[in-house]
Order: sequence, then structure tokens, then C-alpha cells
Amino acid sequence: MVDIVKRSDEPPVEVFPLVDPHDDGIRPAGPPDACFYCQQKVGQSHKRDCVVVSKKVWVRYSFDVEIEVPHAWTPEQIEFHRGESSWCASNALVELNERYPDTEDSVCPCAIFDCTYLGTIDEIPRTKVRAPPEPEPPPDPEDFHPLW
Ligand SMILES: [Zn+2]
Repeated sequence: MVDIVKRSDEPPVEVFPLVDPHDDGIRPAGPPDACFYCQQKVGQSHKRDCVVVSKKVWVRYSFDVEIEVPHAWTPEQIEFHRGESSWCASNALVELNERYPDTEDSVCPCAIFDCTYLGTIDEIPRTKVRAPPEPEPPPDPEDFHPLW
């Protein structure tokens, strides 16, 4: 059991989200009426350290990538072109996707990737709730064949 140390800026446990009948924490591998990760039952609060309770944070993703630029460009020209000109950063996403496609035989970009935590946006505890299953449609009257 993990001891949870409450910080003064954390919301009280009473406002933690309750396990919903359609909670994302209810998994096929676990009981149908409890969170798979913290074992709390439907209607109870998720535990303080439950992984399905999230908060919003800012991070910076960075990738060190090889690109081709005009031979005569200086470092300042390269940074201006990619950072301040009309060149759209969505082009960088396209380049990354072309170089590191999400396929079985491709090389993953982990070696060139870095993530830096920049700050917390808010500490509001959130969970995801799946849409309840669609109810069965009513039987089509055309298919109704009473037994005579
Ligand atoms: Zn939970």
C-alpha cells in the first residue's frame, strides 16, 4: 500500500471523481463494478493515486531531426525560416511522419525525442467516461410473424 501525502494545494479527496458505471477505469480484465486500477467500487471515489484520474499540464515536446536547407543559409536564416517565416510547423509534423511512420517495420523516434514539463494548467481531477452501450433497437414490425 502506498502512503499518500496530501499537499496543501491538492483538492480534498471528497471532490475526487466517483467511479462511474461507464468509467474508463472499468476494464474487461477486472470486475465489472470496480475500477481496475484502484479497486474502488462504482459510486466510490477513485483513490488518490489512481492512474485514471488526470490533470492538465503543459509539456514541451522536442525532436532533434536532420533536414535539408539551401547550402548558403546561415544558422540565423535556418531558424528564421523554420521559426518566424510563413513556414508552418504542420510541415514539421509531416516531415516527422514521413521519417518515422507508425508502421511495424519503421524506426521509432524515441532516440531523438525529449519531453520537458513546463507547468500545471489546473489540478482539477478528471476521469473519462465511455458512452453507455446503445440500447437494442426495437424489433422491426415487418419482421413480426405471429404464430397462428
Ligand atoms: Zn480508480
